Amino acid sequence: SYDELQTCTNNFAERNVIGSGGYGQVYRGMLSDGQVVAIKRAQQGSMQGALEFKTEIELLSRVHHKNLVGLVGFCFEQGEQMLVYEFMPNGTIRDSLSGKSGIYLDWKRRLHVALGSARGLAYLHELANPPIIHRDVKSTNILLDENLTAKVADFGLSKLVSDALTCHVSTQVKGTMGYLDPEYYQTQQLTAKSDVYSFGVFMLELLTAKRPIEKRKFIVRQVRMMMNKDDEEHYGLRDMIDSSIRDTTNLIGLGQFLEISMQSVEDLPEDRPTMSEVVKALETILQNDG
Ligand code: ADP
Repeated sequence: SYDELQTCTNNFAERNVIGSGGYGQVYRGMLSDGQVVAIKRAQQGSMQGALEFKTEIELLSRVHHKNLVGLVGFCFEQGEQMLVYEFMPNGTIRDSLSGKSGIYLDWKRRLHVALGSARGLAYLHELANPPIIHRDVKSTNILLDENLTAKVADFGLSKLVSDALTCHVSTQVKGTMGYLDPEYYQTQQLTAKSDVYSFGVFMLELLTAKRPIEKRKFIVRQVRMMMNKDDEEHYGLRDMIDSSIRDTTNLIGLGQFLEISMQSVEDLPEDRPTMSEVVKALETILQNDG
């Protein structure tokens, strides 16, 4: 209830704020049964109408998977819209890659992060009933739990956010610049393949630690250029690879990882793999590691 959430966050104290995003602020709190949770408190007017919100949230709270951040509950009282999630103590992948969270991911760990989050998305696309398209796959929406298992957050949420408050690129298209499927942007036809595109960008981010748009350059384009003038060993690409993994680890399956990433960011949706195919490709890489 509203009262419980108010108590568990100390009346929404500033010091319990752990982040803020498109929907409003995120608080850390502890429920009366001791469970630590992350509470997303929507800015007034940032979410769509009450009825649509509730129907959608009830649906989302029934989705459970090891690689999805679970929705523990929601509160819709006194003009507030709050979503209560499992707390992810090890932060977002963006925070790991930028060194902000102090969680170092070696190459093998990055492969596991990719595989775990791919499984979460494949589940949403193929096993959730009805199927769910995430619409906003990116490194700040993939978090690490206490065992460094990757979990995808915010699935199904972007369609609940009203247009006015988001920094999205047009009124019909929702997503984040740099991750956005160019085909979806043009046609406004949303399919699961748009998530695959964003996930491909995310995989390139795991490899390079670069943001998808850096100094106005798109990472997808940069990698593509490097690969064109590359030899078999992707030698020219080496400078783009995150230096913290480049120098210290054996980059097992690098070629296959690049291949599946680049297929995922193909311009035409039909040229991209499905999320299950991405899962299979990543499983193969990790199996070959012995
Ligand atoms: P964005 O719009 O960038 O996705 P969010 O509103 O989803 O932002 O989240 C903002 C920040 O709050 C995240 O970057 C993360 O640091 C933190 N956060 C979100 N969800 C959780 C969670 N379940 N556990 C721990 N921290 C979280």
